[in-house]
Amino acid sequence: MSGPRPVRAPRGNQLTTLGWQQEAALRMLQNNLDPEVAEHPDQLVVYGGTGRAARDWASYDAMVRTLRTLRQDETMLVQSGRPVGVLTTHEWAPRVLLANSNLVGDWANWEEFRRLEHLGLTMYGQMTAGSWIYIGTQGILQGTYETFAAVGAELARTRGGDGSLAGTITLTAGLGGMGGAQPLAVTMNGGVALCIDCDPRAIERRIEHRYLDVRADSLEHALRLATDARDKGEPLSIGVLGNAADLLPRLLAEGAPIDIVTDQTSAHDPLAYLPSGVAFEDMASYAAEKPADFTSRARESMARHVEAMVGFQDAGAEVFDYGNSIRGEAQLAGYTRAFDFPGFVPAYIRPLFCEGKGPFRWAALSGDPADIAATDRAVLELFPENERLARWIRLAGERVAFQGLPARICWLGQGERDRAGERFNDMVAAGEISAPLAIGRDHLDTGSVASPYRETEAMADGSDAIADWPLLNAMVNVASGASWVSIHHGGGVGMGRSLHAGQVTVADGTPLAGEKIRRVLTNDPGTGVIRHVDAGYPEAEETARREGVRIPMREG
Ligand code: NAD
Repeated sequence: MSGPRPVRAPRGNQLTTLGWQQEAALRMLQNNLDPEVAEHPDQLVVYGGTGRAARDWASYDAMVRTLRTLRQDETMLVQSGRPVGVLTTHEWAPRVLLANSNLVGDWANWEEFRRLEHLGLTMYGQMTAGSWIYIGTQGILQGTYETFAAVGAELARTRGGDGSLAGTITLTAGLGGMGGAQPLAVTMNGGVALCIDCDPRAIERRIEHRYLDVRADSLEHALRLATDARDKGEPLSIGVLGNAADLLPRLLAEGAPIDIVTDQTSAHDPLAYLPSGVAFEDMASYAAEKPADFTSRARESMARHVEAMVGFQDAGAEVFDYGNSIRGEAQLAGYTRAFDFPGFVPAYIRPLFCEGKGPFRWAALSGDPADIAATDRAVLELFPENERLARWIRLAGERVAFQGLPARICWLGQGERDRAGERFNDMVAAGEISAPLAIGRDHLDTGSVASPYRETEAMADGSDAIADWPLLNAMVNVASGASWVSIHHGGGVGMGRSLHAGQVTVADGTPLAGEKIRRVLTNDPGTGVIRHVDAGYPEAEETARREGVRIPMREG
């Protein structure tokens, strides 16, 4: 029996397999389990609760062994983290096909999933854990950066301005694992962030990691620092200790000049939200001893918190829910206006999806940060007119520490991803990059996910729960030459609530890779443009026209 051990992908440009596609799959599987990358590598858990890269250590060993001998005309089948077969295919076919956590509709709940998981028959793949393209916290930071950049664009549209957040104050709470990216994402966009957390360690940790600039002594102090920085047009992030359910209503009552309000406390789980009037030190024991009592007090506090958010919206601020279900919890506590402000996808991200934009990313299989620096320069050269992208790439180069294999993420759309991918392939061919790149994306993308509580919330035609789209997306990527393709269930929002697909394509510098990259990186976002045209979004129609994406129902 094999067991836990530290895993690290090979570096350099020497193959340990029979080709670069197999090598990329092997290195990215191993990179997902690198202790620098994975949350709990001993349990094969990469991120997101129990999102795994392999079902168990015996399956991991079998995948590594198989990838080492897999030929260019063979495909390994992976069923929820376990290699179950090798079939003869052809050189355009993916080297690996994966299906993770899928259950038949009526059985698709946590209880049944956990029963099957306990029997060793399945695993939870999350999004990029089971599809081997997780790149650490850079992904969260960039997604948050992109959301706040979209808020800046919205403010420019409604109030004027340059599209950055310069001269604005964002108020939010929650400086935890995901929420901790907020202050840096706001300052990267040029704005001021006032961030509340009830846990002093969360504030300290964010300062240590340079995601948060300063800690204020009091709410008054925080507001003074915020308005000073805003008046000078300087970016600054300020942490302040307290309970959001108390401090937001106070700031509202005092008429604090807040421009943008959101929240990333862990409201999705009422046992992880501190109720007003409870000391932070007592939170864990109270939640454990009296969960029902704690839950109803937490929900009441969330209702006050959300009521203040609605108050800020009434006063003219830009307000949105950041995917933590705080509106739903406040509604459960009887607050009737909870859904007066929108979720972040319909508000800011969907217009980007309509342009085929989403979390495009790539990893340097060499392990050499210089290769990513070279790709950063190439992206800046390719898209000189894209200010938002340039700001991100520049600041990411300065502020983002790599975890595992060096990688980069940036949001590119239809007509952009293929250009970047082809340029990268040419750079590998010319020796400007020292080894091939693995080019992929998150599943939270334009055409690859059906998730009615998040990515497909409030679709214009009501098609939120239609899950044909991610399946078409996966089949298109197989037909277009991706190196590995996956279909998952339940990522992001849990069992029964989403279906999504992933692809990774390797740039090894060969003409064949160039052909595959052109097709995959055109067709993959293309399915997103098509999905949004079908749902009736005019921005998607415009993208389809501009980029030549054919839509039969609009022809003839
Ligand atoms: P986390 O548990 O690591 O951090 C939550 C933080 O909130 C903690 O630091 C905690 O001290 C603080 N907190 C709790 N109650 C508070 C209160 N009353 N006042 C002030 N602070 C309080 O969680 P996380 O990983 O940062 O995720 C935060 C939330 O965002 C979760 O609900 C998660 O599901 C959601 N999320 C959404 C998306 C998305 O859709 N964009 C992505 C990731 C996370």
